[in-house]
Amino acid sequence: MPLTRRTFLAGALLGGSALFQRNTAASAGPKVEGWTPAYLKLEREGRLVQRVSQARAILEHCQLCPRRCGVNRLSGARGFCRAPAPAVVFAAHPHFGEEMPLVGDHGSGTIFFSHCNLRCVFCQNWPISHEGRGTPASDEQVADMMLDLQRAGCHNINLVTPTHVMPSILGATRIAVAKGLRIPLVYNTSGYERLEMLRILDGIVDIYLPDIKYMDARQAAKYSAGAADYPEVATQAVLEMHRQVGQLQLDRRGIARRGLMIRHLVMPNRVAGTEQLARWVAGALPKATYLNIMAQYRVEYQAYEHPEIARGITREEFLEAMEWARWHGLTNIDPHAARLRDFYRRRRE
Ligand code: SF4
Repeated sequence: MPLTRRTFLAGALLGGSALFQRNTAASAGPKVEGWTPAYLKLEREGRLVQRVSQARAILEHCQLCPRRCGVNRLSGARGFCRAPAPAVVFAAHPHFGEEMPLVGDHGSGTIFFSHCNLRCVFCQNWPISHEGRGTPASDEQVADMMLDLQRAGCHNINLVTPTHVMPSILGATRIAVAKGLRIPLVYNTSGYERLEMLRILDGIVDIYLPDIKYMDARQAAKYSAGAADYPEVATQAVLEMHRQVGQLQLDRRGIARRGLMIRHLVMPNRVAGTEQLARWVAGALPKATYLNIMAQYRVEYQAYEHPEIARGITREEFLEAMEWARWHGLTNIDPHAARLRDFYRRRRE
């Protein structure tokens, strides 16, 4: 089963020592013939620099995410996410626990950013996301991480929890492009994104990897720090992501080049609204939209204080979730999820 942002912590702790170590001995990464990353076209057209400036200016009155705190992060103020203006990075290393189109043979080049704008009570990375553990990194240092991951052979740069550090990511990308970055950016987000900010990323990000966590405003508010607008915000954000990059495209090796990959974590007692999610995807997007229905919910952080989510999901809850996807005609379910479904079915028989 794929590890995700939620299950990244254990792997990141193992690999965290790689942070800031230059991988000068690494060989060049695999080439994707006949393909150009989106950001390279934008840079060649002279438009990437404008996006960097546009994004950085937002930090003066931070409205990067739907919390819209309005604080001046450039002068040191911090908003709901508690993040400073420069990026804070917990770890950067090849990651082999993501979805197979991202992992391939050489791993997904993950950069795990500290702090978070959503801050769920069940967060499995709470020391990083809630407490902000990590090391401040300049745009130049983040660019070096990107290039090291490319030299290590990673198939992409997987930006985990990027929303609140988007200006740093764009600045780093431009520096890295000048030094030879040529693999796609994966925007690995909770889905709590403003459309205006996503439009700045149009033509820069090739692969969007959003969660859709809830379809019910009350659940979102209860378990994600008052974010009652999450279902509306996240679904609109996913539509914008799809408008930009379309359905998932793979190269001849099965590696993701471009497109939308949606994640949805099944939660106990139908808290995540999986049936509504499957219905929404089937009605709003092509039925072949890539969807990873994930079974790895576990009780973490403050989830113990909420009886409704203070247990793992049952086999029947996962099978029910997968059945809803089938019922609504979704045809591109993550293969790991499909194999787990088949395994559980055999165990039940
Ligand atoms: S990124 Fe942080 S400071 Fe900016 S609006 Fe969101 S929560 Fe507030």
